[in-house]
Amino acid sequence: MSIATTNPATGQVLKTYDPMSEEQIDAAIGRADDAFHQLRGTTVDQRAGWMYAAADLLDAERDEIARIMTTEMGKTYASAKAEVTKCATAARFYADHAAEFLADEPADAAAVNAGQAFVRHQPIGPVLAVMPWNFPLWQVLRFAAPALMAGNTGLLKHASNVPQTALLLEDVFRRAGFPEGAFTTLLVGSDAVDQILSDPRVRAATLTGSEGAGRSIAQIAGRELKKTVLELGGSDPFVVMPSADLDRAAEVATTARCQNNGQSCIAAKRFIVHTDVFDEFAEKFAANMAALRVGDPMDERTDVGPLATERGRDEINEQVRDAIDRGATVLVGGEQPTGDGWWYPPTVVTDLTPEMRMWREEVFGPVAGLYRVESYDEAIEVANGTSYGLGSNAWTRDPEEQRRFATDLDAGNVFINGMTTSFPELPFGGVKNSGYGRELSAMGMREFCNTKTVWVG
Ligand code: NDP
Repeated sequence: MSIATTNPATGQVLKTYDPMSEEQIDAAIGRADDAFHQLRGTTVDQRAGWMYAAADLLDAERDEIARIMTTEMGKTYASAKAEVTKCATAARFYADHAAEFLADEPADAAAVNAGQAFVRHQPIGPVLAVMPWNFPLWQVLRFAAPALMAGNTGLLKHASNVPQTALLLEDVFRRAGFPEGAFTTLLVGSDAVDQILSDPRVRAATLTGSEGAGRSIAQIAGRELKKTVLELGGSDPFVVMPSADLDRAAEVATTARCQNNGQSCIAAKRFIVHTDVFDEFAEKFAANMAALRVGDPMDERTDVGPLATERGRDEINEQVRDAIDRGATVLVGGEQPTGDGWWYPPTVVTDLTPEMRMWREEVFGPVAGLYRVESYDEAIEVANGTSYGLGSNAWTRDPEEQRRFATDLDAGNVFINGMTTSFPELPFGGVKNSGYGRELSAMGMREFCNTKTVWVG
């Protein structure tokens, strides 16, 4: 895949970049290593000062950054602006809390026959971040803010279709005052990842992306004995039980499926509805989906813009065609439009069966699968019946059911009566083929720390 900005609304290539040579990559890793030695000698307060400055730059330049993101991957301008603001908030969160997250933790010295015993959290060095295009700023920031605050340095291999967003974030951290090399964008294709991760100066990797990319990076990291955090795809269930507030559930279902033009790892993708309320929910949900305004992502009134890549749009179309060919029913949408750009309409498909691709696979676009179930147990069976386990969502006003869903849903997070999202305060990650390790909160920061036991006799 060439490194280029291509406007998904038109299919027009706007800017291309030459990938960095092996020598340029080697020099960039060298700068990241030098910066690590410099950064580990700084205080948390110094780093927090730079992180607050980065947050201020993001706020001040929000509209221009958002415009670039919309141009590169088609998200609506309104959602791009909200993403920049979320990044500034998370940067401040880690600047506020790093001292607390990195503080020495005293242990029971007498129990371990010591005069003094404690746990210290120290940075480990340059970390490679392989990142996706769907939230081109947020996915990177949620790695970079805790990593830099811990005293690590970051090497970003961003998705090949968002090079301008990648470069601007490097520029933001540099202008905020972080030392040269503390955060570097490597303009490289995925074929360069082996060289980078095999370099002894690079200590770990984090990836947000597809299962295939996860397996590939985990293999290299396994061979090199390096720590990885993997945040891969998801096919989140959205379960609706008879006691649910159906209007609210249908409203949130629509946003949860179509936010970011349907391209979110924690988008609700499979809508699993109890038979007692199935018809009513299906009618409300289908009406909401049909009412969404599809169009120019720069227009503030637009709800759904184009898909980010032609390949991604074609994949969704093939998944829906496969379901239709095998007997599924389309309630809304389902027809790929002709013309320029990579558009796909909000779509609801029901009567799905296990041999259909939509049953098993993640659908990365504004296409909802609707499933009818007869009981709580069947809802759990369908919800957990995929290889994924990232987010999950349940709608019920019954406290006993709420308690059971929290335990029984096999996922990295469970949201009840509200939309699944990420917060800097809470850990984020998955189980099963959705990956391992956690981002955000204190846990996300410590994934790339040496948790050191110190025992003094
Ligand atoms: P990819 O996994 O292909 O891309 C994500 C990142 O990984 C990009 O930087 C990409 O680089 C890189 N990459 C791809 N293959 C490899 C590899 N073998 N070794 C090292 N790095 C690699 O995602 P896609 O863009 O193809 O999206 C397709 C699917 O990925 C979606 O259906 C969804 O399941 C998942 N995805 C999940 C996301 C999430 O938030 N969890 C976000 C985006 C996608 P390059 O761009 O140069 O290929």
